[in-house]
Amino acid sequence: MNASTATEDGDGFRAGLARGELQVACCTACGTVLDYSQRVCPACGSPDIGWRKASGKAKLRCVVEMSVSYTLERPAPYLIASVELEEGPHLLAPYKNGVMESADAGQPVVAHFEAGGLCFRPVAS
Ligand SMILES: [Zn+2]
Repeated sequence: MNASTATEDGDGFRAGLARGELQVACCTACGTVLDYSQRVCPACGSPDIGWRKASGKAKLRCVVEMSVSYTLERPAPYLIASVELEEGPHLLAPYKNGVMESADAGQPVVAHFEAGGLCFRPVAS
């Protein structure tokens, strides 16, 4: 398995984001992909959790329009997508290049990185 351990990376998700990579947590004993908050493998009970690069492919679950600016870098209104990664975990991230009216549940989306960090956009058809 090509996974780094949690103890080497601390928070592999955030370390990956800093490198421009989307990482998922995985069990180093059996390879099961875990949700971000899980620290014990639900399949084999191992507490040895590592991180590996995700494909970046996902399915859109829903999109919400945020009408409040929480940071100066992201003024309202902006869109947030809830996605299901190809590997299984769910994730919230900004949604780009799309309008809410054309965002359908189940449509394929892909992760990409820009100056503001991770976001998802529709897969070009
Ligand atoms: Zn396991």
